[in-house]
Amino acid sequence: MGRVCGSCTLCCKVLKIPETDSGKGQWCRHCSVGKGCEIYETRPQRCGEFMCGYLIWDKVPAHWHPARSRIVVVSELGFRLNFTVDPGTPGRWREMPWYGDIKAMAVMAFAENRQVLITVGNKVIAMLPDREVELGVTGEDEMIVTGRRPDGSWGAAKVHKDDSRMADGGLTVPLQ
Ligand code: SF4
Ligand code: SF4
Repeated sequence: MGRVCGSCTLCCKVLKIPETDSGKGQWCRHCSVGKGCEIYETRPQRCGEFMCGYLIWDKVPAHWHPARSRIVVVSELGFRLNFTVDPGTPGRWREMPWYGDIKAMAVMAFAENRQVLITVGNKVIAMLPDREVELGVTGEDEMIVTGRRPDGSWGAAKVHKDDSRMADGGLTVPLQ
């Protein structure tokens, strides 16, 4: 698409990189903020492979450049869109035009059996086609289930990954 990172280094703050003990709100110790990676030639493989949604998806409008939006759009697990917000601007996702875009993308994503989450630090919000569900602090060992309740309404829940109800894909997990 011809898009470039430019002065953005936000993924080096909001994404968790185990190899550098960084992420989820703390700048990586190797990041020269606004400039780039100080260990570019030897950076972890996952850093070299990462491209945010702004760079690769033409459905993401130009105002989503992460240096401006303070939100990194990430595809996870093949079915999830995660809007990962800079904890320094935790309410940014609720501002327009980004909030309107996220709501519209949630309608499209759920029609394709995809899930839309907003992550601010270690807190997670599920964006459903018709409303939001605050799921609170979510640990590494927890999973987010979204879907329709028996009455047809949308819901979301947080479940431990070892919960036996996840064996059937979480279909029997009670949704908020
Ligand atoms: S968040 Fe996207 S645009 Fe910003 S540095 Fe990372 S990959 Fe580049
Ligand atoms: S190692 Fe480099 S590319 Fe990876 S998170 Fe740190 S600063 Fe960013």
